[in-house]
Amino acid sequence: MSVNFYNTLNHRQEEFIPLKPGKAGLYTCGPTVYNYAHIGNFRCYAFEDILKRTLLFHGYAVRHVMNLTDVDDKTIKGSQAAGKSLEAFTRLYKDAFFADIARLRFLPADVYPAATEHIDDMIAIVRILMDKGIAYQAEDGSVYFSIAKWPQYGQLVNIDPEQMRSGTRVKLDEYAKESVADFALWKAWDEADGEVFWESPWGRGRPGWHLECSAMSSRYLGATFDIHCGGIDNMFPHHEDEIAQSEAANGCRFVNYWLHCAHLVVDGQKMSKSLGNFYTLKDLLDKGYSGREVRWVLIGTHYRQSLNFSFKALDDARAALQRLDTFQARLQENAGNPDGVLTSVQPVLDKAIVEFSAALTDDLNVSAAFAALFDLVREVNRLLDIDILGGNAVRAVQDCLRRMDLVLAVCQPEAGEDQVPAEIQALAEERQAARKAKDFARADALRKTLEDQGWLVEDTPKGPRVLKK
Ligand code: AMP
Ligand code: ZN
Repeated sequence: MSVNFYNTLNHRQEEFIPLKPGKAGLYTCGPTVYNYAHIGNFRCYAFEDILKRTLLFHGYAVRHVMNLTDVDDKTIKGSQAAGKSLEAFTRLYKDAFFADIARLRFLPADVYPAATEHIDDMIAIVRILMDKGIAYQAEDGSVYFSIAKWPQYGQLVNIDPEQMRSGTRVKLDEYAKESVADFALWKAWDEADGEVFWESPWGRGRPGWHLECSAMSSRYLGATFDIHCGGIDNMFPHHEDEIAQSEAANGCRFVNYWLHCAHLVVDGQKMSKSLGNFYTLKDLLDKGYSGREVRWVLIGTHYRQSLNFSFKALDDARAALQRLDTFQARLQENAGNPDGVLTSVQPVLDKAIVEFSAALTDDLNVSAAFAALFDLVREVNRLLDIDILGGNAVRAVQDCLRRMDLVLAVCQPEAGEDQVPAEIQALAEERQAARKAKDFARADALRKTLEDQGWLVEDTPKGPRVLKK
């Protein structure tokens, strides 16, 4: 089955044809480690996780590189404000980032190159661009990419030629499309940089942010590679500048497939540090939500649609996950049934896995993938209701769920998340004993006590099951 993605470069959905059969080189722009990542950032990494898991699900060997931007305008400013060295300042946020992504079940990248460890690679690219006459050193000592020397500039976003201010220069890492200009490859040291600088053939300075990703992606994936991702805000200038400098330096196509995810928004506005409308993962964990619930919300909306964050969405995630957990508990209770025929369940499983897999190949259509999962839950519940599933059938359902979960990664409860506290379990057992002794008044009273404490008891043929309300 072919996998298809919407390629921003060509503005259409295309079949994914890798450079090397069966392999996929994937570069995802990583965090700028000047602060804790917020869940808007994690929306982007969640989409990339689904992309990577989909490729793995379809048999590709994925080589995934995610950089860490540990030197740029923001990290330097932040370290100075904190009175720390750049290294000590960024270390804190790198560590926090790795803890967060583990909690959100993102598969780790194969390599996490840090910009500060690849300055030589960046200098090498500037040298090539200088030799080719595409870059020049300005009076202030900084080296700029000359967009006038690169007519192909503007492959991802449409740029009005009227607004191409070649010859004028922009030194900041972030700037608007309305001010397309020669951008900095190497920024000459100035006082604001304090003790952050490296020696180069053009004097002391530091790399521009865009150059960092060009250098680190080709170092680990080659001059041309398969897929490059980021949020839509990265399309300009970051990715546009990456394409220009990489293609100009290497003389070949940089990336074949560009995938961009839409923003996570709050009340219609992009979640961002600058607007102050953000939540970190820790903020949500402190409110009692689990990483699994946050993951559910982040992956549940198609990546090219903006995702409106709300606490209601997290509560809905909790309810949906509880249904899934109850279903799995029910399967487990029946896994020891005597074996029987598979005729009733096999068509349900075949349909589920075909639909699930097809949904993902259709530009990562997660809604359709979730629909396939829920159809499976409904159908199997129906079969369990009429009590016709043997142990072998139940185990086949469990296997099917495990396969789907290779992509979704939501089926396993977090440690602690699924546990019924000992005192609640004791109350449930007391109620069961009362029922057995036909003391129904006491059993009902205990049920009410449990309910008041937020727990439901469901009586099943295999005995009572305690669930969160
Ligand atoms: P940064 O650390 O600012 O470089 O951002 C890391 C990644 O998160 C980039 O790919 C951004 O495009 C992405 N990003 C930032 N804010 C949001 C948001 N509100 N929704 C989705 N992605 C975002
Ligand atoms: Zn990047």
